Formats: sequence, structure tokens, C-alpha cells
Amino acid sequence: PSGPRVVDGGAAELHVAENYHPLPVTIASAEGVWVTDTEGRRYLDLLAAYSAVNFGHRHPALVDAVAEQLGRVTLTSRAFRNDRLEPFAEALARLCGKDLVLPMNTGAEAVETGIKVARAWGYRVKGIPAGKARIVVAAGNFHGRTTTVVSFSDDPVARNDFGPYTPGFDMVPYGDADAIAAAITDETAAVLVEPIQGEAGVIIPPDGYLRRIRQLCDERNVLFLADEIQSGLGRVGETFACDREGVVPDLYLLGKALGGGILPVSAVVGSREVLGVIRPGEHGSTFGGNPLAAAVGLRVVEMLQTGEFQERARRLGGHLAGRLEELMGHGVTAVRVAGLWAGVDVDPAVGTAREVSERLMQRGVLVKDTHGQTVRIAPPLVISESELDWAVEQLRLALSDV
Ligand code: PLP
Repeated sequence: PSGPRVVDGGAAELHVAENYHPLPVTIASAEGVWVTDTEGRRYLDLLAAYSAVNFGHRHPALVDAVAEQLGRVTLTSRAFRNDRLEPFAEALARLCGKDLVLPMNTGAEAVETGIKVARAWGYRVKGIPAGKARIVVAAGNFHGRTTTVVSFSDDPVARNDFGPYTPGFDMVPYGDADAIAAAITDETAAVLVEPIQGEAGVIIPPDGYLRRIRQLCDERNVLFLADEIQSGLGRVGETFACDREGVVPDLYLLGKALGGGILPVSAVVGSREVLGVIRPGEHGSTFGGNPLAAAVGLRVVEMLQTGEFQERARRLGGHLAGRLEELMGHGVTAVRVAGLWAGVDVDPAVGTAREVSERLMQRGVLVKDTHGQTVRIAPPLVISESELDWAVEQLRLALSDV
């Protein structure tokens, strides 16, 4: 279709490529859990930029960290050292119980970095023959949009027409540790999974899955890469979703909330034995580890060190789970909740998840559909219990607005 798409209040998107299908709302300002559109209407943000806004919009401590750094230095490139990067890396490594941090910008870059590190480790440490390294991944995964990352997606929309694809990946069903065991060979460098699959609709694997992956990786000399880009940093009521099973992966892939909802900040975090395989000149990014990003990332880590946000997500998540369960059989066919993160499957009889999201928008609540019938709920962790109750009440009404 050509011509202006009038989305709301006359705000048209004439020059923005249509790589997204946004809800028809144009946000002009935001604070905490609330956003305001160009017409002055307020909405409760139950998406939090896919978990990048875990601490709420413009959290004062994060805004202060950025503002203070803006007055000092913002970009040096890694050609020189900057005085913010090492404090950030030290704090983040400590939060993860690891030694080293490789800073990047977006989530997809962190995943690409993890793949490169795993392959280099496979050749240099494990002794996989040159060019043969393989990585086991899970069906239904979402790890980003680069050509290598979509090469191991099974979503035709993400993948079709973007080949030729990068080889070296073996896909197994998600949640099935036996399938991982069967897929591992002497040429396997790593297993890469999301501890909870976000884009797939908040799919929580069976209890013991992550422990079993850890055990398999130890037994077979394979790295465990946990993509915690959406699941990590407080969302599920723990610092990492891997903490739910007391498991520590070899590499944490982090992003989204690491930038406090202000800047793109991502990182790969691991031990010296693993991340130390990368040598000068082999990998990098002009912006990765820049002082502004490091300043906000350090503040994010400091905020997580108190455990306050994890505790909130745990407590309010329990409350949310109870409220959502009440909707079962009333336009909802399934509910999956981990901390303040929920996948709600909408009964096709009441509409698609997109339609429910649009009705919710009319009621002042912003969520986004995923995979046809699932509404994903991921509010900022600073939301209050009464705001959560109000939002669930709007969902209840939206499900009956047929
Ligand atoms: N990995 C996971 C688990 C994600 O959820 C996402 C984004 O949704 C990514 C990677 C990609 O992150 P980005 O969009 O910052 O490249």
C-alpha cells in the first residue's frame, strides 16, 4: 500500500520503512510506567520496550548518570581507554560472578559476539577442526535480526528471502534436554538458548532443563550460552532467569535493560578462560563500551546490586499470576508467568492478540501481540500493585469488548 499511513492524531509515518507494524499510538513523552501520546492521552506501558525499560521511563538515577557523563566525555572509541569502562565491566562481571566483559551495543551484536567467542574457543581450546564448529540452538528461538542470527531462526517471516544462510547450527525442540544431548557431537562448540523464550510468547521450559544443559555442557566439553537479553536483569524476579534453576552459564548475553532504557548497551560476560580467547583486533565496535553507555550500564548494575528490583518483580509477579489466572476460560486459554513477565494466550473466539492489544490501547494500556494469539505483558518493574490491578481489569474488559 502507498500513501500516508495516518496513525493517530494526524501523525503519519511517511518516511519510516515498514519493518514494524506498530500500534496506532505516537508517544511524545514518558515517566515511570506511563507514556503520553501527541494528543496528551496517557497510557500504562505494559511492554517496557520489550524489557529494555525495566526500571521505568527516565528513572532519575539513570538520567542523572547520563547527564553527569554528558558533561564529561561521551565517545572515545576503544582506540583509547576511557575511565568509565573498567568500573562498569568490573561491576557487571561481579554481578554475573565472572571475570570479563566484552561490551557491545545491541542484543543481536551480543549474540553475534557470543557465537564468535564460542567458535574461537572451539578451535583454540577444545580443538575442533578448522571450519567445523557447530552450535546447538532451540526451535522457536529469537536472538535478533542479523543475517547469521536469522540463519538459525525457524520463523519464516524473520528468515525467508534473507539467505544465503550461515551454516553451523543444529536446531532441536525447545525444552527438550534429551534432544540437546543427542545433537551434541565432538564438533559442538556451544549450546545457545534463551532460559525463557520471550518472542515465542514467554515460553517457560520444564524445571530442570537449564540444570540439565549445564550438566551436558560440562560432561561433553561444550559452552553454555544463555541469551538473557530479554529475560535477564530483574525481569523474572531474579537477576537472571538462569538463577531460577541455580545455574551459571559459560557466557551471559545481555542487552536491553543494561542500557537503562536510555542507550543501546549490550555485553557478553564470561570467565577469563572463555572470553579471553578473543585477541586484539579480532572483534569490536566503534560505540561498544563508550563512556556514556558505560556510565548508564554501571548505574544499572548498581541498581540491581540491591536486589530491590528483583524482589519487586518476584512479589508483583506472584500477584500478576494470580490475577491473570482468573481470566482463564474468560477469553484466555493459557497463562505463563515468570516474575513480571507474562504470555497470555487469547481465545480466538474473542479475537486475535493484535485486536485485543488495540482494544487495550483504547482503554489506556499498551501491550503488544506476538505470534498471533499471545499478548505479552512486561511492565516496568517499578509498577505498583494497584496499577497492575487496573491494567488486568482493562484486559478483562478488552477480552469482552467483542
Ligand atoms: N535476544 C533476545 C532473547 C531478544 O529478546 C532480543 C530482542 O528482542 C534480541 C536478542 C535482539 O536484541 P536487539 O533487538 O537489541 O538486537
